[in-house]
Amino acid sequence: MSEKKNNLFCSFCGSYKKDCKILIQGLESNKVHICGNCIFKAYELIGKDYKDENNIDFDFKGFSPKKIKNHLDNYVISQEYAKKILSVAVYNHYKRIFSKQKKDISIDKSNILLIGSTGTGKTLLAKTIASILEVPFCIVDATVLTEAGYVGEDVESILSRLLQVADYNVKKAELGIIYIDEIDKIARKSDNPSITRDVSGEGVQQALLKLLEGTTVNVPPKGGRKHPDQKFISLNTSNILFICGGAFDGIDFFIKKRIKQNQLGYFNQNKSNEENIKSYIMPKDLKSYGFIPEIIGRLPVLSPLDNLSKKDLKEILLSTKNSIIKQYKTLFKYDDVVLDFEPQVYDYIVGKAIDFDLGARGLKSICESILIDYMFNIEKGSKIIVDINYAKKQLEKTNFKKAS
Ligand code: ADP
Repeated sequence: MSEKKNNLFCSFCGSYKKDCKILIQGLESNKVHICGNCIFKAYELIGKDYKDENNIDFDFKGFSPKKIKNHLDNYVISQEYAKKILSVAVYNHYKRIFSKQKKDISIDKSNILLIGSTGTGKTLLAKTIASILEVPFCIVDATVLTEAGYVGEDVESILSRLLQVADYNVKKAELGIIYIDEIDKIARKSDNPSITRDVSGEGVQQALLKLLEGTTVNVPPKGGRKHPDQKFISLNTSNILFICGGAFDGIDFFIKKRIKQNQLGYFNQNKSNEENIKSYIMPKDLKSYGFIPEIIGRLPVLSPLDNLSKKDLKEILLSTKNSIIKQYKTLFKYDDVVLDFEPQVYDYIVGKAIDFDLGARGLKSICESILIDYMFNIEKGSKIIVDINYAKKQLEKTNFKKAS
């Protein structure tokens, strides 16, 4: 006891200062102290709840649809209509949650459906929105989902992913954004109700209904199938924003059919209208494509994405905040290598991406094929200028078309 009188010690566990890594003094000097160990233990005990209640202070007033769109403009080229729709929908979604006004009228959730060919920026839009708002975000693939009890992943497993990204902070996860990719692949497999169950089509749509609308789900924290001995985390999906995306190949047929059937509708069947036919999409076309009306109702914000033009692809290559070429130049700079390109090379890369019909996705792979030898034989302090002949030679050498 006398030793404790002369030495500073933790008032909680009694450890002396010499045995502690840190010892923090309370208000009255020399009377109350706490050691690092006790701080850590206390945090473990109450940390999660404390974080849950206090760290969720999303200030939607700092945002506006215009601000969100301006931020998207830094990363996403073209897609003006989709960016506008998405900015408004996301702003309204969080306003609905955080508004402190009296809630006499409950406002329904507005999940979003993005429709556009592969490599037009659907995932990029969802990812960028989540990063602006700093909310947990995860991407899940609809093709692996099946109805509960069948081979594949349960629909609820998508919530485990969100929980993992949110560091198991339930309150944070409940405000997150989930991007469901390839949603078009869960369209009903055939128009006629067949004897065999459509477990990866209509069955998944039915299972998704409740999640999209808002329900409380017992989620297995590590994902996988549920089993009786498992501990579950309860998660409410009412404030989770679901953004779904898909290419919807073949839906053009239903859009054209509807437009032709509609005597009042005027559709000028010129080339540019044909190319961007998806911009005429309506909920009815989704039903013809194989979606049940209930799921269409839970994805009320429909946003078509345009096919990217040559000019758009060139901008993606060169001008976005972290454009592909800027990324490669930075990568080489880490080794003190200056990387530059002859201007024709940019047009060549864009042309090839269009030839291979890969949208913006192709740009990165083409650049990778062209630069692979320079990256492999990197020499510190050197200067590289990629000319058109070298670019052509490299791409032919890698037999890119076959590989892609
Ligand atoms: P998808 O529509 O198939 O989801 P992604 O969003 O995954 O396409 O795009 C693949 C890559 O192509 C992105 O990582 C991005 O680099 C680039 N990209 C696609 N569309 C755009 C766009 N509109 N603006 C800028 N980059 C884009």
